[in-house]
Amino acid sequence: MTGIPRVMKAAVLYEPGAPLIIDEVELRGPASDEVLVRIAACGVCHSDLHIIRGEWAGFEPPIIAGHEGAGFVEQVGPGVTHVSPGDPVVLGWKSSCGECRYCVDGRPYLCVDSPRPKPSSSISKGGLLINRSFIFAYFAEYAVVPKSVAIPIPKEVPLDRAALLSCAVATGVGAVVNTAQVRPGSTVAVFGCGGVGLNVVQGAALCGAAQIIGVDIGVDKLEFARRFGLTAGVNAAERDPVAAIHDLTGGAGVDYAFEAVGSEKVAGQALQSLARGGTVVIVGMPGFRDEVQLSLPLMPFFGDRWLTASYYGGTNLRRDIPRLAQLYLGGKLELDALVTRRYALADINQAFTDLVGGEPGRGVIVL
Ligand SMILES: [Zn+2]
Ligand SMILES: [Zn+2]
Repeated sequence: MTGIPRVMKAAVLYEPGAPLIIDEVELRGPASDEVLVRIAACGVCHSDLHIIRGEWAGFEPPIIAGHEGAGFVEQVGPGVTHVSPGDPVVLGWKSSCGECRYCVDGRPYLCVDSPRPKPSSSISKGGLLINRSFIFAYFAEYAVVPKSVAIPIPKEVPLDRAALLSCAVATGVGAVVNTAQVRPGSTVAVFGCGGVGLNVVQGAALCGAAQIIGVDIGVDKLEFARRFGLTAGVNAAERDPVAAIHDLTGGAGVDYAFEAVGSEKVAGQALQSLARGGTVVIVGMPGFRDEVQLSLPLMPFFGDRWLTASYYGGTNLRRDIPRLAQLYLGGKLELDALVTRRYALADINQAFTDLVGGEPGRGVIVL
Protein backbone atom coordinates (compact mmCIF):
# COMPACT_ATOMS: atom_id res chain seq x y z
CA MET A 1 0.00 0.00 0.00
CA THR A 2 2.77 2.43 0.84
CA GLY A 3 5.07 1.11 -1.87
CA ILE A 4 3.75 2.78 -5.00
CA PRO A 5 4.04 6.56 -4.91
CA ARG A 6 1.22 8.72 -6.12
CA VAL A 7 2.27 11.52 -8.48
CA MET A 8 0.48 14.76 -7.68
CA LYS A 9 0.70 18.49 -8.23
CA ALA A 10 1.76 20.63 -5.28
CA ALA A 11 2.89 24.21 -4.62
CA VAL A 12 6.52 23.82 -3.55
CA LEU A 13 8.74 26.45 -1.96
CA TYR A 14 12.32 25.79 -3.07
CA GLU A 15 13.83 29.03 -1.78
CA PRO A 16 12.63 31.37 1.01
CA GLY A 17 10.90 34.44 -0.42
CA ALA A 18 10.79 33.02 -3.96
CA PRO A 19 7.47 32.34 -5.70
CA LEU A 20 5.93 28.92 -5.11
CA ILE A 21 6.39 26.50 -7.98
CA ILE A 22 3.58 24.17 -9.05
CA ASP A 23 5.50 20.95 -9.38
CA GLU A 24 4.81 17.25 -9.74
CA VAL A 25 5.90 15.39 -6.62
CA GLU A 26 5.54 11.86 -5.31
CA LEU A 27 3.44 11.07 -2.24
CA ARG A 28 3.61 7.73 -0.43
CA GLY A 29 1.21 6.31 2.13
CA PRO A 30 -0.97 6.05 4.08
CA ALA A 31 0.62 3.85 6.76
CA SER A 32 -1.21 2.67 9.87
CA ASP A 33 -3.25 5.31 11.72
CA GLU A 34 -3.00 7.59 8.69
CA VAL A 35 -5.54 8.86 6.18
CA LEU A 36 -4.98 9.76 2.52
CA VAL A 37 -7.17 12.71 1.57
CA ARG A 38 -7.90 14.22 -1.83
CA ILE A 39 -7.70 17.94 -1.10
CA ALA A 40 -10.70 19.99 -2.26
CA ALA A 41 -9.79 23.36 -0.75
CA CYS A 42 -7.13 24.99 1.39
CA GLY A 43 -7.26 28.44 2.97
CA VAL A 44 -4.44 30.94 2.55
CA CYS A 45 -3.36 31.93 6.05
CA HIS A 46 -0.82 34.38 7.46
CA SER A 47 1.09 31.50 9.03
CA ASP A 48 1.80 30.17 5.52
CA LEU A 49 3.15 33.59 4.61
CA HIS A 50 5.60 33.47 7.53
CA ILE A 51 6.85 30.11 6.28
CA ILE A 52 7.09 31.18 2.64
CA ARG A 53 9.08 34.26 3.61
CA GLY A 54 11.45 32.11 5.67
CA GLU A 55 10.47 33.92 8.89
CA TRP A 56 10.01 30.82 11.01
CA ALA A 57 12.91 28.59 11.99
CA GLY A 58 12.44 24.87 11.43
CA PHE A 59 10.44 25.20 8.20
CA GLU A 60 13.19 24.61 5.67
CA PRO A 61 12.76 24.39 1.88
CA PRO A 62 12.00 22.45 -0.11
CA ILE A 63 8.67 22.61 1.66
CA ILE A 64 4.95 22.50 0.95
CA ALA A 65 2.78 24.80 3.10
CA GLY A 66 -0.98 24.87 3.58
CA HIS A 67 -2.57 23.86 6.88
CA GLU A 68 -6.24 24.90 6.53
CA GLY A 69 -7.59 22.08 4.46
CA ALA A 70 -10.69 20.12 3.57
CA GLY A 71 -11.24 17.25 1.19
CA PHE A 72 -12.49 13.71 0.69
CA VAL A 73 -11.02 10.60 2.23
CA GLU A 74 -9.39 8.57 -0.52
CA GLN A 75 -7.91 5.71 1.46
CA VAL A 76 -7.36 4.79 5.12
CA GLY A 77 -4.45 2.96 6.68
CA PRO A 78 -4.80 0.11 9.20
CA GLY A 79 -6.22 1.23 12.54
CA VAL A 80 -8.44 4.00 11.13
CA THR A 81 -12.11 3.43 11.88
CA HIS A 82 -13.70 6.89 12.28
CA VAL A 83 -13.68 7.73 8.54
CA SER A 84 -14.08 5.79 5.30
CA PRO A 85 -13.23 6.51 1.65
CA GLY A 86 -15.58 9.16 0.24
CA ASP A 87 -16.21 10.93 3.56
CA PRO A 88 -15.83 14.72 3.51
CA VAL A 89 -13.34 15.85 6.15
CA VAL A 90 -11.91 19.03 7.58
CA LEU A 91 -8.15 18.76 8.12
CA GLY A 92 -6.84 20.38 11.27
CA TRP A 93 -3.19 21.31 11.81
CA LYS A 94 -2.46 19.99 15.27
CA SER A 95 -2.46 16.24 15.64
CA SER A 96 -2.85 14.55 19.00
CA CYS A 97 -1.69 11.27 20.48
CA GLY A 98 -4.72 10.56 22.66
CA GLU A 99 -2.45 9.33 25.45
CA CYS A 100 -0.48 12.24 26.96
CA ARG A 101 -1.71 14.12 30.03
CA TYR A 102 -3.17 16.94 27.89
CA CYS A 103 -5.02 14.62 25.53
CA VAL A 104 -6.40 12.65 28.46
CA ASP A 105 -7.47 15.96 30.00
CA GLY A 106 -9.53 16.84 26.90
CA ARG A 107 -7.05 19.44 25.66
CA PRO A 108 -5.55 17.79 22.55
CA TYR A 109 -4.42 21.19 21.23
CA LEU A 110 -1.73 21.06 23.92
CA CYS A 111 -0.61 17.53 23.01
CA VAL A 112 3.12 17.06 23.60
CA ASP A 113 3.45 13.97 21.41
CA SER A 114 1.73 15.05 18.18
CA PRO A 115 1.99 12.24 15.60
CA ARG A 116 3.73 13.22 12.38
CA PRO A 117 3.22 11.59 9.01
CA LYS A 118 5.34 8.43 9.12
CA PRO A 119 8.63 8.31 7.22
CA SER A 120 7.07 5.75 4.87
CA SER A 121 4.44 8.37 3.91
CA SER A 122 7.00 10.74 2.43
CA ILE A 123 6.73 13.48 -0.17
CA SER A 124 9.64 13.58 -2.61
CA LYS A 125 10.78 14.84 -5.99
CA GLY A 126 13.25 12.68 -7.88
CA GLY A 127 14.67 11.30 -4.64
CA LEU A 128 14.79 14.72 -2.92
CA LEU A 129 12.71 14.67 0.27
CA ILE A 130 10.20 17.53 0.55
CA ASN A 131 9.22 18.91 3.96
CA ARG A 132 5.76 19.64 5.27
CA SER A 133 4.80 22.78 7.19
CA PHE A 134 3.20 22.36 10.60
CA ILE A 135 3.79 18.72 9.65
CA PHE A 136 1.08 19.20 6.99
CA ALA A 137 1.16 20.09 3.30
CA TYR A 138 -2.31 20.89 2.04
CA PHE A 139 -1.32 23.08 -0.95
CA ALA A 140 -1.35 19.88 -2.97
CA GLU A 141 -3.78 17.52 -4.67
CA TYR A 142 -3.44 14.91 -1.92
CA ALA A 143 -2.24 14.72 1.66
CA VAL A 144 -1.45 11.93 4.09
CA VAL A 145 -2.34 12.92 7.65
CA PRO A 146 -2.38 11.37 11.12
CA LYS A 147 -5.93 10.19 11.78
CA SER A 148 -6.50 12.65 14.65
CA VAL A 149 -6.70 15.64 12.28
CA ALA A 150 -9.16 14.18 9.76
CA ILE A 151 -12.53 15.27 11.10
CA PRO A 152 -15.70 14.10 9.33
CA ILE A 153 -18.30 16.79 8.65
CA PRO A 154 -21.81 16.74 7.16
CA LYS A 155 -21.75 16.55 3.37
CA GLU A 156 -24.00 19.63 3.18
CA VAL A 157 -21.12 21.96 4.12
CA PRO A 158 -19.31 23.13 0.95
CA LEU A 159 -15.64 22.26 1.33
CA ASP A 160 -14.29 25.64 0.16
CA ARG A 161 -15.94 27.10 3.25
CA ALA A 162 -15.41 24.10 5.51
CA ALA A 163 -11.64 24.48 5.05
CA LEU A 164 -11.71 27.68 7.09
CA LEU A 165 -13.10 25.78 10.08
CA SER A 166 -9.66 24.20 10.37
CA CYS A 167 -7.71 27.33 11.28
CA ALA A 168 -9.24 30.82 11.05
CA VAL A 169 -12.63 29.85 12.48
CA ALA A 170 -11.35 27.35 15.06
CA THR A 171 -8.75 29.86 16.26
CA GLY A 172 -10.97 32.95 16.29
CA VAL A 173 -14.27 31.53 17.50
CA GLY A 174 -12.43 29.15 19.84
CA ALA A 175 -10.53 32.00 21.51
CA VAL A 176 -13.89 33.47 22.51
CA VAL A 177 -15.88 30.32 23.27
CA ASN A 178 -13.18 28.05 24.73
CA THR A 179 -10.41 30.31 26.03
CA ALA A 180 -12.18 33.46 27.24
CA GLN A 181 -15.66 31.93 27.67
CA VAL A 182 -17.28 35.30 27.00
CA ARG A 183 -20.54 35.74 28.87
CA PRO A 184 -23.79 37.12 27.41
CA GLY A 185 -24.15 40.89 27.82
CA SER A 186 -20.43 41.54 28.16
CA THR A 187 -18.37 44.04 26.18
CA VAL A 188 -15.64 42.98 23.76
CA ALA A 189 -12.91 44.73 21.77
CA VAL A 190 -11.21 43.00 18.84
CA PHE A 191 -7.86 44.41 17.74
CA GLY A 192 -7.26 43.38 14.12
CA CYS A 193 -10.15 42.41 11.85
CA GLY A 194 -8.33 40.06 9.45
CA GLY A 195 -9.15 36.38 8.95
CA VAL A 196 -8.87 35.43 12.62
CA GLY A 197 -10.21 38.74 13.97
CA LEU A 198 -13.43 38.39 11.97
CA ASN A 199 -13.97 35.04 13.64
CA VAL A 200 -13.32 36.53 17.07
CA VAL A 201 -16.07 39.01 16.18
CA GLN A 202 -18.52 36.28 15.23
CA GLY A 203 -17.51 34.19 18.24
CA ALA A 204 -18.38 37.15 20.47
CA ALA A 205 -21.72 37.51 18.67
CA LEU A 206 -22.39 33.78 19.19
CA CYS A 207 -21.73 34.23 22.92
CA GLY A 208 -24.22 37.10 23.13
CA ALA A 209 -21.79 39.97 23.73
CA ALA A 210 -23.68 43.27 24.03
CA GLN A 211 -20.98 45.37 22.41
CA ILE A 212 -18.33 44.22 19.92
CA ILE A 213 -15.87 46.97 19.07
CA GLY A 214 -13.41 46.39 16.23
CA VAL A 215 -10.07 48.18 15.92
CA ASP A 216 -8.17 48.22 12.64
CA ILE A 217 -6.34 50.60 10.35
CA GLY A 218 -8.34 49.37 7.36
CA VAL A 219 -11.71 51.12 7.16
CA ASP A 220 -12.98 48.56 4.64
CA LYS A 221 -12.09 45.75 7.07
CA LEU A 222 -14.11 47.42 9.83
CA GLU A 223 -17.06 47.87 7.50
CA PHE A 224 -16.79 44.24 6.35
CA ALA A 225 -16.72 43.03 9.98
CA ARG A 226 -20.19 44.45 10.63
CA ARG A 227 -21.81 41.51 8.88
CA PHE A 228 -20.10 39.24 11.41
CA GLY A 229 -21.57 41.12 14.38
CA LEU A 230 -19.34 44.17 14.90
CA THR A 231 -21.31 46.92 16.63
CA ALA A 232 -18.73 49.73 16.33
CA GLY A 233 -15.48 50.25 14.44
CA VAL A 234 -12.46 52.31 15.52
CA ASN A 235 -10.00 53.41 12.85
CA ALA A 236 -6.69 53.25 14.71
CA ALA A 237 -5.04 55.34 12.00
CA GLU A 238 -7.21 58.27 13.03
CA ARG A 239 -8.10 57.76 16.70
CA ASP A 240 -6.42 56.49 19.82
CA PRO A 241 -8.21 53.15 20.21
CA VAL A 242 -7.88 53.14 24.01
CA ALA A 243 -9.68 56.48 24.35
CA ALA A 244 -12.26 55.46 21.75
CA ILE A 245 -13.05 52.19 23.55
CA HIS A 246 -13.47 53.99 26.87
CA ASP A 247 -15.78 56.51 25.18
CA LEU A 248 -17.88 53.73 23.65
CA THR A 249 -18.24 51.92 26.99
CA GLY A 250 -19.21 54.91 29.13
CA GLY A 251 -15.70 55.16 30.55
CA ALA A 252 -15.62 51.60 31.89
CA GLY A 253 -13.50 49.81 29.28
CA VAL A 254 -14.29 46.37 27.90
CA ASP A 255 -14.66 43.03 29.68
CA TYR A 256 -12.59 41.24 27.03
CA ALA A 257 -9.99 42.51 24.57
CA PHE A 258 -8.65 40.18 21.88
CA GLU A 259 -5.29 40.92 20.31
CA ALA A 260 -5.38 39.43 16.80
CA VAL A 261 -2.42 41.33 15.35
CA GLY A 262 0.68 39.91 17.06
CA SER A 263 2.22 43.19 18.19
CA GLU A 264 3.52 44.44 21.54
CA LYS A 265 2.08 47.89 20.99
CA VAL A 266 -1.37 46.49 20.29
CA ALA A 267 -1.18 44.15 23.30
CA GLY A 268 -0.48 47.22 25.45
CA GLN A 269 -3.48 49.01 23.96
CA ALA A 270 -5.65 45.96 24.61
CA LEU A 271 -4.62 45.96 28.28
CA GLN A 272 -5.30 49.70 28.63
CA SER A 273 -8.76 49.16 27.11
CA LEU A 274 -9.88 46.72 29.80
CA ALA A 275 -12.48 47.31 32.46
CA ARG A 276 -11.64 46.13 35.97
CA GLY A 277 -11.81 42.37 36.10
CA GLY A 278 -11.32 42.20 32.34
CA THR A 279 -9.24 39.80 30.28
CA VAL A 280 -6.83 40.28 27.39
CA VAL A 281 -6.54 37.26 25.11
CA ILE A 282 -3.55 37.20 22.73
CA VAL A 283 -4.60 35.43 19.53
CA GLY A 284 -2.28 36.91 16.91
CA MET A 285 0.93 35.10 16.03
CA PRO A 286 4.08 37.24 15.77
CA GLY A 287 6.16 36.94 12.60
CA PHE A 288 9.33 35.87 14.37
CA ARG A 289 8.86 33.50 17.23
CA ASP A 290 10.90 35.38 19.82
CA GLU A 291 10.86 38.85 18.37
CA VAL A 292 7.84 40.24 20.15
CA GLN A 293 8.54 40.96 23.80
CA LEU A 294 5.85 42.17 26.15
CA SER A 295 6.69 45.05 28.41
CA LEU A 296 3.48 46.05 30.15
CA PRO A 297 2.69 48.27 33.14
CA LEU A 298 2.07 46.22 36.28
CA MET A 299 -0.56 48.37 37.98
CA PRO A 300 -3.54 47.52 35.72
CA PHE A 301 -3.24 43.87 36.78
CA PHE A 302 -4.13 44.89 40.33
CA GLY A 303 -7.57 45.76 39.02
CA ASP A 304 -8.00 41.99 38.74
CA ARG A 305 -7.17 42.08 35.06
CA TRP A 306 -5.97 38.96 33.28
CA LEU A 307 -3.63 38.41 30.39
CA THR A 308 -3.68 35.09 28.59
CA ALA A 309 -3.04 33.62 25.16
CA SER A 310 -5.15 31.25 23.12
CA TYR A 311 -3.43 28.45 21.23
CA TYR A 312 -5.49 27.12 18.33
CA GLY A 313 -8.57 28.56 20.04
CA GLY A 314 -8.41 25.86 22.70
CA THR A 315 -9.86 23.62 19.99
CA ASN A 316 -10.68 19.97 20.54
CA LEU A 317 -11.01 19.08 16.85
CA ARG A 318 -13.24 16.02 17.26
CA ARG A 319 -15.61 17.98 19.51
CA ASP A 320 -15.51 21.45 17.99
CA ILE A 321 -15.30 21.05 14.20
CA PRO A 322 -18.64 19.16 13.96
CA ARG A 323 -20.23 21.76 16.27
CA LEU A 324 -18.98 24.62 14.10
CA ALA A 325 -20.28 22.81 11.00
CA GLN A 326 -23.72 22.47 12.63
CA LEU A 327 -23.71 26.16 13.59
CA TYR A 328 -23.03 26.98 9.94
CA LEU A 329 -25.83 24.72 8.71
CA GLY A 330 -28.15 26.31 11.27
CA GLY A 331 -27.37 29.81 9.98
CA LYS A 332 -25.60 30.86 13.18
CA LEU A 333 -22.03 30.88 11.86
CA GLU A 334 -21.10 32.93 8.79
CA LEU A 335 -18.77 31.12 6.41
CA ASP A 336 -20.15 32.13 3.01
CA ALA A 337 -19.21 35.80 3.34
CA LEU A 338 -15.86 34.90 4.89
CA VAL A 339 -14.54 33.53 1.59
CA THR A 340 -14.03 36.55 -0.64
CA ARG A 341 -11.45 35.14 -3.06
CA ARG A 342 -11.07 31.75 -4.73
CA TYR A 343 -8.01 30.64 -6.68
CA ALA A 344 -6.83 27.64 -8.65
CA LEU A 345 -3.66 26.02 -7.29
CA ALA A 346 -1.80 27.50 -10.28
CA ASP A 347 -2.66 31.01 -9.05
CA ILE A 348 -1.41 30.52 -5.50
CA ASN A 349 1.23 33.25 -5.73
CA GLN A 350 -1.51 35.77 -6.58
CA ALA A 351 -3.41 34.56 -3.51
CA PHE A 352 -0.46 35.50 -1.30
CA THR A 353 -0.05 38.86 -3.04
CA ASP A 354 -3.70 39.61 -2.25
CA LEU A 355 -3.25 38.45 1.35
CA VAL A 356 -0.37 40.90 1.80
CA GLY A 357 -2.52 43.59 0.14
CA GLY A 358 -4.89 43.34 3.11
CA GLU A 359 -8.15 42.76 1.29
CA PRO A 360 -11.07 41.88 3.61
CA GLY A 361 -12.10 38.26 4.11
CA ARG A 362 -10.20 35.12 3.26
CA GLY A 363 -8.71 33.61 0.16
CA VAL A 364 -9.09 29.90 -0.54
CA ILE A 365 -7.28 27.65 -3.01
CA VAL A 366 -9.89 25.43 -4.67
CA LEU A 367 -8.68 22.20 -6.27
ZN1 LIG B 1 -3.73 29.34 9.89
ZN1 LIG C 1 -1.27 13.88 23.37
